[in-house]
Amino acid sequence: MTRRIFVATLVVTALVASGEMLAQENRPLVVASTTQVADFARQVVGDRMEVRSVLAPGADPHLYEVKPSDAELVRQAAICLENGMHLEGGDWMRKLAVAAGKEDELVTCTVGIKPIVLKAEGNQHVDDPHSWFTPLNAAVYVNNITQAVGKYDPQHKDEYQARARLYLEQLRALHLWIREQLSAIPPEQRILVTSHDAFNYYCQAYGFEARAPVGWSTGAEIGGGLTPARRKTVVDSIRDSGVQAIFVETSVNPKLIREIAKEAGVAIGGTLYSDSMGGPGTAGETYVGMMRENTLHIAGALKRK
Ligand SMILES: [Zn+2]
Repeated sequence: MTRRIFVATLVVTALVASGEMLAQENRPLVVASTTQVADFARQVVGDRMEVRSVLAPGADPHLYEVKPSDAELVRQAAICLENGMHLEGGDWMRKLAVAAGKEDELVTCTVGIKPIVLKAEGNQHVDDPHSWFTPLNAAVYVNNITQAVGKYDPQHKDEYQARARLYLEQLRALHLWIREQLSAIPPEQRILVTSHDAFNYYCQAYGFEARAPVGWSTGAEIGGGLTPARRKTVVDSIRDSGVQAIFVETSVNPKLIREIAKEAGVAIGGTLYSDSMGGPGTAGETYVGMMRENTLHIAGALKRK
């Protein structure tokens, strides 16, 4: 290679590289509050937009305290996505969007989902925010996101819809697969005990009873927190039920569930992904992977021994 060709090649390579970087940097930014909402968004936008999640894998949305860097991220967002139904404790994602003047760019992904209404302390009622836990509800999130990105970027609307259609097929297949996996669990073992009330939608869809010592939120919000009386009720009900195993969650401190398992004399059936997905390189780093791993843990621990 002559020196001139070599230099020219270098210049072309540098131009291509910077052009690529420019294209990456210029992509519209989608900021999601939670990891699973970010995954749904990624499935729809592909590489056309950059998707970032405020919460890190394993983080707890109920107790999350926003950082200055979150506010900066939301300021740069073309579209903001929240779960809604007060999953984000104190509505922190909405507050971030409002503070950045992005209220009109904020999409609530649970719009259109029929909520499970939980009874909270003092005769209050709350909509259970953990509605992504059935693939059929996840499809509602995906449809809301598809509509929002198509409106923002109508030029590529067909492409977003095509990706969404493929992903919705995967969600339908996931639903059937979960039903089939759980069919091996006998009726008397169909009780799912986890740290906090994250699994009501899953339980309702697949014929389980959900029990959680902490309540619907891990925080001190309505219905959250564990009283000694409630703890005793949970331990007694686990003993009485004859259930073989109870479960730890990735986004909640496992200490309480370990203690309760010991007191009730049952095994820990595994760690379930709950309010956020797993980190990069784990089986739970996507929504489909997280639902698959949870289902295998539950089926493995509760099916007839
Ligand atoms: Zn939760």
